[in-house]
Amino acid sequence: MYDYSLDQRFQNLKPFEEKIWLSSPTMHDAEFEYMAEAYRTNWMSTVGGNIDETERLLAEYVGVKSAVALSCGTASLHLAIRLAGEKLYGVRRAEIGTLAGHKVFCSDMTFDATVNPVAYEGGEAVFIDSEYETWNMDPLALKKAFERYPETRLVVLAHLYGTPGKIDEIKNICKEHGALLVEDAAESLGASYKGRQTGSFGDFGIVSFNGNKIITGSSGGAFLSNRESDARKIRKWSTQSREAAPWYQHEELGYNYRMSNVIAGVVRGQMAYIDEHIAQKKAVYERYQAGLSDLPVDMNPVGTEGVSNYWLSCITIKPSAMCENVRSERGKLYCHRKGKTCPDEILDVLAHFHIEGRPLWKPMHMQTLYRGNRFVGVNGQENENAFTDGDRQGSVGADLFERGLCLPSDIKMTERQQDAVIEIIHRCFE
Ligand SMILES: *Cc1c(COP(=O)(O)O)cnc(C)c1O
Repeated sequence: MYDYSLDQRFQNLKPFEEKIWLSSPTMHDAEFEYMAEAYRTNWMSTVGGNIDETERLLAEYVGVKSAVALSCGTASLHLAIRLAGEKLYGVRRAEIGTLAGHKVFCSDMTFDATVNPVAYEGGEAVFIDSEYETWNMDPLALKKAFERYPETRLVVLAHLYGTPGKIDEIKNICKEHGALLVEDAAESLGASYKGRQTGSFGDFGIVSFNGNKIITGSSGGAFLSNRESDARKIRKWSTQSREAAPWYQHEELGYNYRMSNVIAGVVRGQMAYIDEHIAQKKAVYERYQAGLSDLPVDMNPVGTEGVSNYWLSCITIKPSAMCENVRSERGKLYCHRKGKTCPDEILDVLAHFHIEGRPLWKPMHMQTLYRGNRFVGVNGQENENAFTDGDRQGSVGADLFERGLCLPSDIKMTERQQDAVIEIIHRCFE
């Protein structure tokens, strides 16, 4: 491994003593009070006032009729996707999965938690390329996917890094094809599109309270819907599907996915601070935007019709300023050139200075796990099959992944610390 402490470019710079995080939890004391209340009153379970209040506050904030507090965003997606499958294809035997034999159009560039639940339910994820304006699902590619696989009835859309995708276009395409839409707003809680919150547009939405999200419960997630009957069903499924009977009567497959009342205390306390966190994240983004404006890089899009929650600040390096950088499945190799750098070099340098960054999400169509799945982009040839898909060449997702990275976006980072991060990035290009 190359030793950056000997590199001339970084000579008079010292690593931070305390690590600068990508995005770590920010607590305010109210959380502790609600947790302590759960303890004092012995509601140390998956029922209690914190859960009820979290659900009420969240539904009100997002502007949906119902929210169901669950153990994590992934569990919320699983139940949302299972419910969509049941509505579309009817009740199946548990071991088969509600989506068995059916295709589902999914965001390609995202965290794999967005798409794994499709596999849990036996469905076949077909990955849809991103567009450059929001980095989210390209409506043109989605349209093309429906032309190829017109029998498909379910779309799973993620809003990356807090920036809403092209929701109107995608909703219209879904409507035209009678498809349901599941909205993964795990990263975008508090972001809005034409005046409405993300998570409220799909037939079902989900959010996450994972430790690095805009607000957190340390873990946790929620299912969102405008139908109380959906919320009732998800509440039942998430608590092992008990029927109203004198004994443990089970007529449907159940899960243990409910949020704990202790975790809900943390989320309840954090709910009051969403807008403050967003304002601080926006300030971090704008400082990067100003501080990096003289470099051959672009900031991640924050939307034209949408308003981002600025969860993570990211950059892409302009193609002309990329040094050689090759990646295998698990390894990387790059070669610095004057005036050029690459995401892997910047990430190594940041790590050397005790700063956490992260590559952009590696697109699902590039993952070993999903190599056999279909992929649809707008630039591809019409000839496709699962293993020799022409669309994979020149995909937007692969290009963003190659040239992009997430910068430390912690709201507890001081201006002085952020200035140092900006200086280090400048030196990478020297
Ligand atoms: C964090 C995240 C999830 C999963 O949330 P968990 O609460 O960690 O299970 C799903 N989708 C996206 C896009 C995420 O970033």
